[in-house]
Amino acid sequence: MARLVLDHVSKSYGAGGGNRIRALAGVSLELASGELLAVVGPSGGGKTTLLRLIAGLEEPDGGDIFIGDRRMNGVPPKEREVAMVFQSPALYPEMTVFENLALGLRIRRAPAAETRQRVLETAGWLGLTDCLSRRPASLSGGQQQRVALGRALARRPRLILLDEPLSQLDVPAREQLRGDLVRLQRQLGATMLYVTHDQAEALAVGQRIAVLEAGTVQQLGPPETIYQHPANLFVARFIGSPRMNLFPGRFRRSSNGVRFETTSGQPEPALAGLPLGKTHLANLEGWMDRELILGLRPEHVKERDRQALEAGGTKVEARSSNVELKPEVKGRVVRLDRTGPDCFGWLESRGLVIVARLPGDCAWREGEDRTVELELEKACWFDPATGKAIA
Ligand code: ADP
Ligand code: MG
Repeated sequence: MARLVLDHVSKSYGAGGGNRIRALAGVSLELASGELLAVVGPSGGGKTTLLRLIAGLEEPDGGDIFIGDRRMNGVPPKEREVAMVFQSPALYPEMTVFENLALGLRIRRAPAAETRQRVLETAGWLGLTDCLSRRPASLSGGQQQRVALGRALARRPRLILLDEPLSQLDVPAREQLRGDLVRLQRQLGATMLYVTHDQAEALAVGQRIAVLEAGTVQQLGPPETIYQHPANLFVARFIGSPRMNLFPGRFRRSSNGVRFETTSGQPEPALAGLPLGKTHLANLEGWMDRELILGLRPEHVKERDRQALEAGGTKVEARSSNVELKPEVKGRVVRLDRTGPDCFGWLESRGLVIVARLPGDCAWREGEDRTVELELEKACWFDPATGKAIA
């Protein structure tokens, strides 16, 4: 397995003149040998184009592609030793599963005994041993995609490119194959580029994630960094479900310290006077009285801890020891999504809607008034002019 380097790779489509579509605009990426990089982004972002350029199905307009140490620009697909798996498994219907798995090896004129041994081994990895003599039409969608994946693995390519490989499968088949795929990737030390439009899938599979939008890498990093420290508003909105709460507003200094006021256009800002912990202020000092955007994940908006509040002593203690109580927002419950382990609740408060993550067994009902507390120390802050994260 080989490493992959993309250096300022660009690609446009269409006839001359001003109507060209810029599918990729200077993409630079580096995959270590044996790494699984998930590329995620909305439809039309350039994900498939990226894979087609690496596989050699198209040539870039600019930039360089290296696999191992070899520059691949202009090298025919066959010589690149790259396998690609598509959304719908492109299998030969008249061939058996065995023949489909063996195809890549036969084209490369591998000896029959070696081909047989590799096909059997690959079928074993993917749970296809009992289907080797069947034809693709008699298999489930999940099994067909296993054959397509097996055909890629049996060849032992230097690089495996997967273009939304699970998106046509039902949920159980998808989860099972996803688990098997990651296990095999680790076991074989395969270098893999895994494309998906599904942010949850990218977070689940990627050792690192590249967020691709409008032909540009918006952020590249491990899943926890992408999720907790989105580099810009696009990533903040695209990664995470339900979406991160985003409120424009500004810091104001008052007699009781610094507060955040939303500029929601309402007569009275809904989050007016959220007190900010001192820890924040060090890197946000320059943002006083300037417009910025507060970003808060639903899990950092919680049901108010009523026990702590009702135990009067705690409250007094908190006050006397000068511990800041968490800022609160009171509002009307306008939507509840129960997922089982969690319940997501949307509160409307003076024209502003905020989503909270609550326990699955929470007793909220739509139409009630409820209070949530905000963990502002976990907030992300963005510059509205550039969309970029601050600090
Ligand atoms: P994704 O896979 O992320 O959905 P694509 O790489 O397929 O994105 O497409 C990126 C952009 O390039 C889109 O605007 C798409 O319409 C355009 N595009 C892709 N392939 C072609 C092509 N063969 N001819 C013209 N435009 C194309
Ligand atoms: Mg695509």
